[in-house]
Amino acid sequence: MSRTETPPRGQRPRPRRSQAPPPRRAAPEQIFHGIAVSPGIAIGPAFGTSEPPAEVSHHKIPAADIEAEGARLEAAIAQSRKQLGKLRARLSLLPEDSQAEIAPLIDAYIRMLGPSRLVRGIRRRITEGLVAAETAVTEEADAIAAAILATAGDDSTGRRRRADEVHEIARRLIRNLTRQPYQSFSSLPDGAVLLAEQLRPADVALIDPSRIVGVAAAVGGREGHTAVLLRALGLPAVLGAAGIAEETVRPGAVAIIDGTAGTITLDPSEESLAAARRAVSAFARERARLGRLRRLSAETIDGQAIELQANLELPRELPLIAQSGAAGIGLLRSEFLFMNREDLPDEDAQTDHYRGIVEAMAGDPVTIRVLDWGGEKEAESSGGEGILPGFAEANPALGMRGIRLLLQRPDLFETQLAAILRAAIAGPVRILLPMVTSLAEVRAARETYERVVRRLRRRGERLPEPLPPLGIMIETPGAALAADALAFEADFFAIGTNDLAMYALAVDRSAADVAALYDPLHPAVLRLVQFATEAALRTRRPVSACGEMAANPCFTPLLIGLGLRSFSMNASAVPRVKQAIRALRADDCARFAHRVMERGDPDEIRAMIDSFPGGFPGPES
Ligand code: PEP
Ligand code: MG
Repeated sequence: MSRTETPPRGQRPRPRRSQAPPPRRAAPEQIFHGIAVSPGIAIGPAFGTSEPPAEVSHHKIPAADIEAEGARLEAAIAQSRKQLGKLRARLSLLPEDSQAEIAPLIDAYIRMLGPSRLVRGIRRRITEGLVAAETAVTEEADAIAAAILATAGDDSTGRRRRADEVHEIARRLIRNLTRQPYQSFSSLPDGAVLLAEQLRPADVALIDPSRIVGVAAAVGGREGHTAVLLRALGLPAVLGAAGIAEETVRPGAVAIIDGTAGTITLDPSEESLAAARRAVSAFARERARLGRLRRLSAETIDGQAIELQANLELPRELPLIAQSGAAGIGLLRSEFLFMNREDLPDEDAQTDHYRGIVEAMAGDPVTIRVLDWGGEKEAESSGGEGILPGFAEANPALGMRGIRLLLQRPDLFETQLAAILRAAIAGPVRILLPMVTSLAEVRAARETYERVVRRLRRRGERLPEPLPPLGIMIETPGAALAADALAFEADFFAIGTNDLAMYALAVDRSAADVAALYDPLHPAVLRLVQFATEAALRTRRPVSACGEMAANPCFTPLLIGLGLRSFSMNASAVPRVKQAIRALRADDCARFAHRVMERGDPDEIRAMIDSFPGGFPGPES
């Protein structure tokens, strides 16, 4: 496009990325260690996610568009201020000296988005220069930065820092103007290994696993939602790898991600590269072998049928679910519908999404969990800033999350329930409530559910008969220990061991520094699982386990021994768990669980699990 051409409306300029520089000469091999979160080996050129300066070409606008362009700018400013405000609120979680360092910087950014020289200049360029908002932002920021750098005086470092700040705020504005997600991966070459400081769940939702072969980040733990999503996409990944960041990585340097061992090798030696290539082939052969289990039943030697279902976090996992041999979706995390967007999906849009998934499952049951927003799922990077309330809480995991938020926002809750009910015409559906802690919440949710049913009937909508059951996640210690009481109100239970372990042990599931303390084999977690399972069996409520524990074949004997007969997990784990089940006897498992539950030391329990007859290989060893 030439420099002065006016693009048609709706085709605003997109930032272009400069090509990544070609790899420079090989450096000595470097190995970083982190937490293995998603198995497999990836080899490819490494690229960071930090935004290179966006090159926005010069775009004129007709005078008639000045007002609309100004409104786009104001919306982007408001959104940027809101994002920064949230970032500022989160600083209270950092140590004091880090806060003292970062807070003035964020304040400076927020000031720059107020009645500043930068904002005045941008507005003037739109109205007087008749240019698109992106163009105005880039050109004004460049002009101010150049003026700062040209100022006389000794403090060249300070001048450079101030110029960088202007460019940083311009980048944020352009991201918001072009509705680009905070982290964009579209500029990465095919086959790239992605190295990042931090990836939020909403960022992972944007990764195309057919283009990116592996992922590593400095931040994150094994059971966080980022890890869950990476496993769902089947991408070899390592998180919590201190030292991995853009600055430490030469763009295009060869990297090996070992998502089983938890290592990242940069600039590997010939021997390391050859070993990694052999591991890639071995991994592919093993996958093919497990794939052949697809048609075999999930049944123990003594004839106990076990239900194996898949968790789904992104619709693009549907083909993986079909290949896995899973008998339905045991946990559809509906958060994906609310990520990376500017507005809330309406009832029709949600109905279409759910119906598409229910139809794709061709008669196999689908358990749809209503929105579990809040905590770490409320991503700063979602681009959906403001579509859902943000809560600047010191302890987001203990705040307005899951069912609590839905009960406060009946509009949101009712719309989603209506959409699920309408989609349930297409096949068997169950509805699941997240983050329940009390009977009152389940009662209130059921009242809402019944109200929605009445409204849809009045509207003449066709609804399934009988109506979808309404169940609850058992993922807080409160719900687990009150499971017998909750069984009066809930039609079924899904035990979420990820949050259950986090809340029982007071360990953030996505934090690398306390990852070693996050132990689902802690007797406290196992006793909660046991209590809830036994309550469900006594009260004849269907019960399943859908946290990451269910995906680990090492834990299968114990979970079967505790009485569980239904599991839901990421699709790629289904064949391994099935293989484990087919080598077990349910009565041996019951005796084994009995012995395990007498122990108080997680390490002792782990040793028992490792030496259980036959001993199972790890998730993907
Ligand atoms: C869980 O907490 O175990 C669970 C399955 O829910 P999520 O991982 O989505 O929080
Ligand atoms: Mg959970």
